[in-house]
Amino acid sequence: MIICSYYAFMFTDGSTGPISIDNTLPYLLSFCTYFALNLLLVGIYFILEATENLVNFFKAIIKETTATYISTLVLSLVLVILMGPEELFGLTLFTCIAFLLSLAFKQHFNLFKEISEKANKDFLTGLNNHGYFKEILEKEVAIAKETDRPLSVVILDIDDFKKFNDLYGHIQGDHLLQEFGAILKTESDAANFIVARYGGEEFSIIMPNTNRKTAYSFMNELRKKVNDTYYNGVERLPYGCLSFSSGIAECEKETYNISELLNKADQAMYAAKNQGKNLVQIYNGHSEYSVHHSLSLEKELEEAEFQLKIFLSKDVYTYRHSKRVYQYAVDFSRMLNLSVHERKTLILGALVHDIGKIEIPREILNKKGKLEPHEWELMKKHVTYGKDIISTNKKLEDLIPLVELHHERYDGNGYPYGLAGKSIPKLARILCVIDSFDAMTTERPYQKTKTFHEAIHELRDCSGKQFDPQFIEPFIAMIKECDNSGDERKKELVGLIG
Ligand code: GH3
Ligand code: MG
Ligand code: MG
Repeated sequence: MIICSYYAFMFTDGSTGPISIDNTLPYLLSFCTYFALNLLLVGIYFILEATENLVNFFKAIIKETTATYISTLVLSLVLVILMGPEELFGLTLFTCIAFLLSLAFKQHFNLFKEISEKANKDFLTGLNNHGYFKEILEKEVAIAKETDRPLSVVILDIDDFKKFNDLYGHIQGDHLLQEFGAILKTESDAANFIVARYGGEEFSIIMPNTNRKTAYSFMNELRKKVNDTYYNGVERLPYGCLSFSSGIAECEKETYNISELLNKADQAMYAAKNQGKNLVQIYNGHSEYSVHHSLSLEKELEEAEFQLKIFLSKDVYTYRHSKRVYQYAVDFSRMLNLSVHERKTLILGALVHDIGKIEIPREILNKKGKLEPHEWELMKKHVTYGKDIISTNKKLEDLIPLVELHHERYDGNGYPYGLAGKSIPKLARILCVIDSFDAMTTERPYQKTKTFHEAIHELRDCSGKQFDPQFIEPFIAMIKECDNSGDERKKELVGLIG
């Protein structure tokens, strides 16, 4: 680097000898050469170490090292000035400072490494901790979606660990956790999986490039291995050995975020517990078996309806629209092959999908004419506002994708993200059809009402563009069925045909 800087200096007509203002440009250029080369070499080293995103990587290095390099440059200039009159003394001083500086940098670097390692590790087992695990999972989910490779996540919980603690005390319990952590690490490392202590006696494994079936075989092997390994004291546990129950969830294109994925793995894990423990269970959409997570639909509906009633005073249209969309969701979800959990999520999501409109000014909500572009931009924000409102209630977490993404379009021209196709969660794609149908067929201040016939035509027209085609014909079939039958609500709907 020094040699190259020297040549850069000479090449740009720099003159050696005393420091001179005339050499400013050569000084700068040789400094840049030094910096660029250094950056390149360090960069190459890290690229070999880890396959990080190149641009982000260089950006980070430039941000973190510019100040250090500039100060080194200034210091070097000061020393060169000093070396003029006192050559030997200057050189000695320079060497001393260079040595001490490199020592200080090394110490700082080690300290940084130590602290960041500690921040990411669980103190008892030495495995990755909960926070770091989530960070890795975010990255792995993004990679899996981008590359279309499978990714599975496992949550495992030691069976009857409280009993072990009660029998032998917490210190012995801690030892068992350490030993269990060690076996998980050995097995996971061998398969290139990432293991973490999720909390208490729960652990989690991220399995890149692994589908649920392979994950299942791996976990079953691991389960047998743990069962067959003797740990001091486990003979008094119900199974006479150490055992765990675990749940597997595979990331899909439409997986909304890591919470959804973890939630599924967690539900599957509880299912394994409910079926007698010492089991591996793949998430299969039937979360109703999770006693820990399922509340009665009625109770949740009551709460959601309570939130919705706030609209009554501000925007009667949105209130009534939400109730109709909810009713369509009840009927439509019956027709589709949805799990109980999905049905519940769709119905609740339909009821609260426009909750974010509460943040939109009345004048815009009730405006008679067409919305101005800036008003339209504000109106579009209701999905994000809705997400924020829903996020405050942990119990409504599953509804977030529906609230936030029901205006995404199948062709990618929707908002807020412009997601396309299967990247939009399935329930949001279904809700988009129902919501749009109701919007087309009911009175709105700024839009002519369509008859059911016209709306059905429009649905077909926009199939594959705005809507996921697979839901269009079933929805139309449901509407037609509703058209032909005679119950009160349906008569009311048919009445809208005019
Ligand atoms: P199940 O089979 O249903 O999972 O039953 P369990 O007894 O394993 O689960 P439960 O949730 O009833 O109890 C978990 C126990 O784990 C209680 C808690 O004291 C213990 N535990 C959590 N963290 C630690 C720890 O760091 N060290 C020790 N020794 N015990 C822990
Ligand atoms: Mg537990
Ligand atoms: Mg347990």
